[in-house]
Amino acid sequence: MDREAGEKVVFGEPGQITALINARLIDGRGGEPVEGAVVRIRDGDIVGVGREPVQASEVSVDCNGMTLLPGLIDAHAHLIYTDFRSLDAVDRCSIETSSINAVNNARKVLDAGYTTIRDVGTVGNVAVAMRDAVADGKVAGPRIIASGQIIFPTGGLGETLPPHWTSDHGLGRRVDSPDAMRAEVRRQIRHGVDNIKLAASGVEVGPYAWTWMTTFSEEEIAVAVEEAHRWGRTVAVHAQSYDSVRFSLNAGVDTIEHGTRIDAETAKAFAQSDTVLVPTLSTLFSVIELGSKLNLMPKQREEMKVNEPLWIESMLRCRDEGVPIASGADLGNRYPHGANAREIELLSRVGLSPMEALLAATAVAAKALKLDHEVGTIEEGKRADLLLFNGDPLTDIASLQDAARIALVVKAGLPAAGFRA
Ligand SMILES: [Zn+2]
Repeated sequence: MDREAGEKVVFGEPGQITALINARLIDGRGGEPVEGAVVRIRDGDIVGVGREPVQASEVSVDCNGMTLLPGLIDAHAHLIYTDFRSLDAVDRCSIETSSINAVNNARKVLDAGYTTIRDVGTVGNVAVAMRDAVADGKVAGPRIIASGQIIFPTGGLGETLPPHWTSDHGLGRRVDSPDAMRAEVRRQIRHGVDNIKLAASGVEVGPYAWTWMTTFSEEEIAVAVEEAHRWGRTVAVHAQSYDSVRFSLNAGVDTIEHGTRIDAETAKAFAQSDTVLVPTLSTLFSVIELGSKLNLMPKQREEMKVNEPLWIESMLRCRDEGVPIASGADLGNRYPHGANAREIELLSRVGLSPMEALLAATAVAAKALKLDHEVGTIEEGKRADLLLFNGDPLTDIASLQDAARIALVVKAGLPAAGFRA
């Protein structure tokens, strides 16, 4: 049974094949798009990619005139962030309100075509709760790789409040020695995190530590990585200073977030490592574009002015050396959740090709999350996480942000969002 393009889709019963036909396929492996492809899915998995005609036993979905992509992946999200202009606003928001915000934001991210995100810092343990609630079908959202609170040292990124105020439940968790680091990593693993997030440098949006400051020692980072990896967890490091990137690479972290300062020698070492760069250009450009309009604090705007050329130069240096670059938008501060594909546009604007930018939000992001065996490409054996897009992202990469073009978001083989869902 054919369904007209634009009509609501009907997928097959359990055990039955649904064939998405007539699509322009971008499979996430970097090759040229394939016209007239047929992608078969069954019970949540992709079971065939080719051109074989539809069988009588199969249900078909006509994708004529549309592009079929892997479901998009955002490697740097904070589901609790909602209209936050600076980090102290995150800590002023209660865990209860933050949880409600996270539920709302997860829906927006899914509606934007994102089927997987990595949450890299939360209050309390909201990201783990969200991961499980989505997996259990209690709330709508992308699949979530969850971190706990961001681990930082005294004076570092998590110091959002005056020194005479203390809280153990905010965005950050303070540790000040290798032993304390080991204990905190174990505590977070006990609480169910998939990923450990460290803040090894300062940050523009916090009032105290500046981005050029390296706040963790190499030893502290190394202990976190050794401990996390032994338990099968990954480590993402907020690293905006030269040494925070160097220390992180030496320690063997899984991803470098922001990467604002990376010199030529470090970029070469980066390319030899297994680490992925998540440059989060939305962080930079949201302040540059909206800084005066939103009346952001002077430190943020001043830092971004200094950081802009360094940031872009560092990213391009890494790209030229062959460092894998993943898309992560760090949303909910200046740009809202749902605008995740803005990052893809920005990556392309500063020098990645449209295809490279798309791969950053699919195959490379999957690699960054250590989920590349499961998602990130459209291949037989992968989970059926797909985006049917009414347009051609390769000729107009910015159009990915147009909600009216999101025809269908398929998550684990089921219609989850889009105007045809
Ligand atoms: Zn972030």
